[in-house]
Amino acid sequence: MINRQRLLERFLRYVRVDTTAGEDAAGQSSAGYPSSPGQLELGKMLVEELQALGLADARQDSFGIVTATVPPSPGDESAPVVAFCAHLDTSPETSGAGVRPQVIENYAGGDLVLSADPQRVIRVADCPELEQVRGKTLITTDGTTLLGADDKAGVAVIVETAAWLIEHPESRRAPVRICFTCDEEIGHGTDHVDLDELGATVCYTLDGQGADTIDVETFSADLAVVTVRGVEIHPSIAKDRMVNAVRVTAAFLDRLPRDTLAPESTEERQGFLHPYRISGGVGETTVRVLLRDFDTAALADHAQVLRRAASVTMEDFPGSRIDVEVRPQYRNMAEGLHREPRAVPFAEQALESLGRSARKTIVRGGTDGSRFTELGLPTPNLATGQHTPHSPLEWACLEEMVSSVEWLVALAGRWCDRPD
Ligand SMILES: [Zn+2]
Repeated sequence: MINRQRLLERFLRYVRVDTTAGEDAAGQSSAGYPSSPGQLELGKMLVEELQALGLADARQDSFGIVTATVPPSPGDESAPVVAFCAHLDTSPETSGAGVRPQVIENYAGGDLVLSADPQRVIRVADCPELEQVRGKTLITTDGTTLLGADDKAGVAVIVETAAWLIEHPESRRAPVRICFTCDEEIGHGTDHVDLDELGATVCYTLDGQGADTIDVETFSADLAVVTVRGVEIHPSIAKDRMVNAVRVTAAFLDRLPRDTLAPESTEERQGFLHPYRISGGVGETTVRVLLRDFDTAALADHAQVLRRAASVTMEDFPGSRIDVEVRPQYRNMAEGLHREPRAVPFAEQALESLGRSARKTIVRGGTDGSRFTELGLPTPNLATGQHTPHSPLEWACLEEMVSSVEWLVALAGRWCDRPD
């Protein structure tokens, strides 16, 4: 039996620490690495908790990354090392300061009005999965912040799994490495993780939504930094001389497709271009655009759409200049998962041993696992009970978090059985 009350308390403790990732206009981390002090604070708390559980090697490195080892059961010392990974930071899209989690026991169904802001309503119409969690324990915010279940649900699930394994020495398990990363939400989750030191054969990120899902594909991702240069001059003498980069930028953005190739108009396996941040003024602006697709080769086509929009806009605004610089971010994890053919089947079999069945899903985004997989550590993503991430309407389901703990315990056991 999983200690659900202790798991809930862990989760509530972690979400109260503000770990919002920071990013400045140029996309650089605003205050070194990690980008916010709360990530260090939460990491420190976790090291103390893991040490108190008896994980003697629990430590936080100079980048704020937390690692620890749950030793294997006697006789399973040579089993493959399995890593469980989650990220400490939360999305900068919604404030994560002063989170006041609300626990709703025995959810009766229907829309959830958030207590501090009646305008904020978690609607069944927008979240049909609410129908599946009647009678369960849900956690929301008061409507003024995000919850941070992305990814503190994953963090809580991993720590509770470690606690359960330590308390049940009779339960067989492969050596388990725990890894908590920083700044995942701003694309730097894996920058400072030393995979040799982690020493794992396979890794699972605990950063998926709902219950019983395995993300086996992610987007491939590039970032375009578009620099728009105008000609700045005092407005009083600007006639026929000023070229306003703000107007050029507006025209450029207007040329990007909105009915296709935008996050607002695409779903499932469709890719997109997503301008998500503008900064600057009359003389120069910078626009940051995400390029996303499951098909890595299609990213070049999307970059071409940006470049075409740039060149046509420059013709409309003589004297302006638009530069499009494209940087790779991460690649679809499906491209590298085949290197460890047991990674996904073992996760499916572990769940089947609990009488449940896994749904293989694709994630319209990236995970730390996309990059780990690219670097040679196959890393699918597992469900943790989080829902509607990055939003004040975020919520989590305690019973789904419990399910994830059960899944990890079974998975650690599956990896010490001899492969068929
Ligand atoms: Zn996440």
